[in-house]
Formats: sequence, C-alpha cells, structure tokens
Amino acid sequence: MKPLSVLAAASLALAGCAAMSPDPQAPKVKVTPLGSHAGEFCPLDRALVFEDPDGTRILYDPGRTVRGPNDERLGRIDAVLLSHVHDDHMGDLIQPSANAGACQKPDFSVRVTPNSNVVNIAMGKQAPLIVGGEMVYFFQTKIKSLGGDPGKLVRLLRFGAQTTVGKVMVASVPAVHSNGLPAHYLPKEQAQLLGDAGLTAYVGPPGGFVLRFSNGLTAYLSGDTGITAEQDLVVRGNYKPNLVVMNIGGFPFSAGPAESAYVVNELVRPNAAIASHANEPATIGGNLTPNSKTAAFQKAAKMPVHVPLSGRTMEFDGSGRCTAGC
Ligand SMILES: [Zn+2]
Repeated sequence: MKPLSVLAAASLALAGCAAMSPDPQAPKVKVTPLGSHAGEFCPLDRALVFEDPDGTRILYDPGRTVRGPNDERLGRIDAVLLSHVHDDHMGDLIQPSANAGACQKPDFSVRVTPNSNVVNIAMGKQAPLIVGGEMVYFFQTKIKSLGGDPGKLVRLLRFGAQTTVGKVMVASVPAVHSNGLPAHYLPKEQAQLLGDAGLTAYVGPPGGFVLRFSNGLTAYLSGDTGITAEQDLVVRGNYKPNLVVMNIGGFPFSAGPAESAYVVNELVRPNAAIASHANEPATIGGNLTPNSKTAAFQKAAKMPVHVPLSGRTMEFDGSGRCTAGC
C-alpha cells in the first residue's frame, strides 16, 4: 500500500505543477511596435499593431513612424484607432525610407498633409478609423473628399461606448489632454485664417482605449493624458486591464515617469506595462539608456515594464504575462 500512496502523492504533485505552470499552447496576443528605427525605442514612436489569436489586426496611433499604407510592416489591418489629432499621432510627416535619419533625430521629410498618415492608411487598407469626440465629422469629410466611403471607413466611438473588431472588444475611455486639429490638415484658405490667428480647430475631447482580446488579455491604451480619476473608477473599476500601454513623455505635454508609475501602481494595477511616447531616444543598440525616462518608469513601476523595440513582436497570454519577445 505504501508505494502506491507515494506514487499517488507524486502524481498529484505533478498534476498540481502542470496546473500552475503556464500552458505554452495557450493563445497569445501579438503586439508589434512600428517605430522609426528597427530594434530601438525612439522619441516619436507611438504606433503599435495588436494581433488577436483570431487574426484580427488593429493599428493604434500610426503617427509619423508608419511609412504610409504601403509600409510592409503593416500587413493586413482591420481597424485603425486614433486617440487624438495631434501631429505625432495623426501623422503630418513620415520617413522617406526605413530607419531614415538617426534614432535621436529621425528623418521625417515626407509631408503627407493635408491628408494625414492616418487617413492615407485607412484609405489604403480600407480599414475603419475608430475615433471619439467630434473627430468623426472631420474624418468623414476628409475620406469623402478623397473618394472613400465615409460610412465604411470612419466609425464613431465616444466615451462609454464599446464596439467589436473581429473578436476584439474596443472601448473608448477618457484622456485629459487637448485635441486641436492643426491648421495644415485643412484646405489652404481655412488653414491660413486659423494659422494667422494662432488657432487650431475644435474636434472634441481626446481619448484612450481599452481592448479586450479573445484570450482574455485586456489592454488599456492611455493616449496622451495626465493622472485622472477615471483611470481608477472607469478603467480599473469596470474593465480591469491586465496590460497597460502608458504614455510617459512628461513635461510639458503629459504625465511623466513618476506620474505614470502612480497610474499603473495605484490606479490601474495591471500585471504588466509597455512604455510609450517617451519623447527621447530611450535605447542604444536595443538597450535601455540608464538615465532615460523609460528606465525611471521601469524602476518606479511595481510590475514588469516592457520596452517597445520597433519591429520586435511581444506575445502576451490572457493574464498580461509576456511569454515571448520581451
Ligand atoms: Zn502625443
């Protein structure tokens, strides 16, 4: 009897081990940063592609670093999310070629105004642009003027609402920042009038997003923001994200490393974070510069902070744990 019970105990222990260690076959969400320089995290890098296990691919804030709709890194795109209309998210300029310029000073010499990079990508990929605030009217008019179908290519998603793209739930959440449309996206005469007065055009509030993927991964994309009560009450309270993509850029635009660490540590409390929008050349040769803002955020955060190296795909399981590429 004794050997049997030892065997039984051993097999029970093994079964316990197997239940606790992550299943390598479990479905993963792939997150691929599309920055200005391969293998680095550079000042204007914002763009991320999220790929659900069902194959749905969502582009977030293409900015200046996606080289238009024909950038070979994009692949198929099913939807484009835009947090707000500032140049570094919408894209007034793009690079002439991969890795043009240096990481600390990328070459953004190709002008894509008045269309914008985000509109050119929505048109080129025939993928809906998902926006909040009053942005929908501006983009529908723009898409129509370029011969696109505004009903198909622009989707409104205001704060509180959610929609789906494939098996991915997309929710709109608040960001506290600003959202003036720069004059150079407007026809010449209007641009001249606004520009002369030092004004931008009103397109409603900026936003952030929460994405819930089919494997359970729930990601909060902060957009450009400071610390807000909604990060606790709405983002954490209702959606319970286990991954956060956090703007850490700091003065004078948004929360910096210390404030962003407060957001992830005390308010949203995910299992992992991805630094974003650093406004600095954060890496050299793919290694984090020790005195960078990104390093300060990584040090201050209580959970693992992953550095979005351009072109390197990170894989996340349903709990927010990075299982490859981090
Ligand atoms: Zn920004």
